Amino acid sequence: MDAGRLQNRLNLLGPLLRERFGAPVVKIGLEAGLSCPNRDGSLGLTGCAWCAPAGSGRGRAHLGIAAQLDQGLARLRERAARAGRRPPLTLAYFQAHTSTHAPTPALRAIFEEALAVPGVAGLIVSTRPDCLDEPRWDLLSELAARLPFWLELGLQSANDATLAALGRGHDVKCFARAAEEAGRRGIQVVAHVILGLPGEAPEHTWATADLLGELAVGGVKMHNLMVLEGAPLAEDWRRERFQPWDLETWARAAAGFLARLPPDMVIHRLCADPGAEILLAPAWAGSKDLALRALAGYLEENDLRQGALRP
Ligand code: SF4
Repeated sequence: MDAGRLQNRLNLLGPLLRERFGAPVVKIGLEAGLSCPNRDGSLGLTGCAWCAPAGSGRGRAHLGIAAQLDQGLARLRERAARAGRRPPLTLAYFQAHTSTHAPTPALRAIFEEALAVPGVAGLIVSTRPDCLDEPRWDLLSELAARLPFWLELGLQSANDATLAALGRGHDVKCFARAAEEAGRRGIQVVAHVILGLPGEAPEHTWATADLLGELAVGGVKMHNLMVLEGAPLAEDWRRERFQPWDLETWARAAAGFLARLPPDMVIHRLCADPGAEILLAPAWAGSKDLALRALAGYLEENDLRQGALRP
C-alpha cells in the first residue's frame, strides 16, 4: 500500500510525529495487568460485546513494564540495524484493558517505570471516560505538562442506544464530560471509535464523526468491528444473529467518517490489526493492507478528503 495515497487526503499521525521529533516514532503496546470495570464486576463481568478476554493484550503483563519495553526496543534496534537506519523513538502505549483502573499511586508507579526506560519519548494512556477522578486527572495533567502525552478515551459510538445494547456501561455525555475536563487541563484526547457496531449503519458512524468535531478532541483512533474468539459477539455471529460489514461498506463508512472530521484532527489509526489466531470474521480484516487500499480507492474515486463533508 502506497502510504502517500492516504497521506495526501488525511491528517495522519505518522508524518506529524516525524516532523515533531525529527525521527520516526513507533508505539510499543504495554500490558500493566489491570482489568476493567466491565470485567471485574464493578459494572459487569462479561466485557463489552466486541472485546476479547485479553482486552487487546497478549498475556505479557507478568513480564512487567520495563521488560516489555526492553524487548520491544531490542526488536526495533535489530530491525533498524538490518536496514542500516537509526532506531526509532518510542511512545510507551498503555493499551490493554482500562489503563487508569487502579489506585493513583499504583498508576504513577507503572507510568514512571515506563518513562525511566531509555528511548521512551512519550506516553499514551488508554482508558474509559468513567474511570477518571480528581486524583487520576491530577496525575495525567502532571504527565501531560512534563512530556508528549495522549489520553486515549473510548467513545465507540455517539449513539447511546448502541452503547447500551452492547453493554458499554457509560453514555455519550460521560465521554463529552471527560473530553471537556481533559481540554480544560491541556491534555490531548484521542477518541477511540468502532465502525460497524451491531445495529449501526454507515450513517451512525458519520453522526459519531459530527459529534467529535464539536468536542475538545484532538485525535481519533478508528477500529473496524471484528468478531474475536471469546468476545460475547462471537456467540451471536456463530448463531448467525449478526454479520459484520463487508469491505466495501466499511470503506464507504470510513471515508464518510473521515470526510466529516475537522481537517486538523489527527488520525491515530485507520483500522485494527488483529491477531490472526483470534479473528473469526470478517476475513478481510485480517489484511490491513487490503483494507487501506479499499479506503484509499474510495477516497480517490469520490474525491473525498478529511474535512470535505464537515456539516
Ligand atoms: S472494551 Fe475496554 S471496557 Fe470494554 S470490556 Fe474491553 S477492556 Fe473492558
